[in-house]
Amino acid sequence: MARKYFIAGNWKMHKTRAEAAVLARELVAALKDGRHKYLIAPGFTTLETVAALIKDSNILLGAQNCAVEEQGAHTGEVSVLQLKDLGVQTVILGHSERRHIYKEDDGLINRKVRLALKHGLDVILCVGELLEEREDGRAEAVCKRQTVEGLKGISADDFSRVTIAYEPVWAIGTGKTATPEDADAIHAYIRKVIGELYGSGAAESVIIQYGGSVKPDNAAALMAKENIDGALVGGASLESGTFVPIAKFS
Ligand code: PEP
Repeated sequence: MARKYFIAGNWKMHKTRAEAAVLARELVAALKDGRHKYLIAPGFTTLETVAALIKDSNILLGAQNCAVEEQGAHTGEVSVLQLKDLGVQTVILGHSERRHIYKEDDGLINRKVRLALKHGLDVILCVGELLEEREDGRAEAVCKRQTVEGLKGISADDFSRVTIAYEPVWAIGTGKTATPEDADAIHAYIRKVIGELYGSGAAESVIIQYGGSVKPDNAAALMAKENIDGALVGGASLESGTFVPIAKFS
């Protein structure tokens, strides 16, 4: 089965509503004839603004995180119900900044993945090793653990709404990119793990994005690899001048 490229932008903790609106308008115009699947994940406070601007476009609305509980006394958290209410279709979970700065572990991430899927949201589940884990030869083991634990209890049916993003932590926001060959090798390995969990059909159809300093000048070489099906873009997604060439790579 041919997999469709999926290019997503993670705006992290950037942009006021006015700034987000400018970028959203630029992307709607520039990507309307784009051939791939697109998503942008603005910060929580700009979701409503961006939702209104992209609602009739080919760009999906993503959130960068959600609370582990459905609702209740959780000061400062944002629930899946609130995200759905704003028109969010997909939530990014297990991003390395959530894992390493905010100490989210595999168990917590798994509960979030299950909750989001239960409420009909799609999920981008991020996995990826630290530099020292790579240097110790543990990159595959770490990605396997994060994939298997993150997907615990998720049916094959629900898994069809999960995208995996392989993001080596040492490449995020550092300007260092995994070589296309190194990235492809881990993607192939994650695909094999998915096959063990859900069978060969799921392994063949799962979308595995690469993330880690993707830029206009390296996107095409990464996407040319057999097992790389798209990109999760941080820094370069903050300006249309850098995101659009990635989104329209050929
Ligand atoms: C990310 O945050 O998911 C990411 C890949 O960031 P950057 O593109 O800036 O490395």
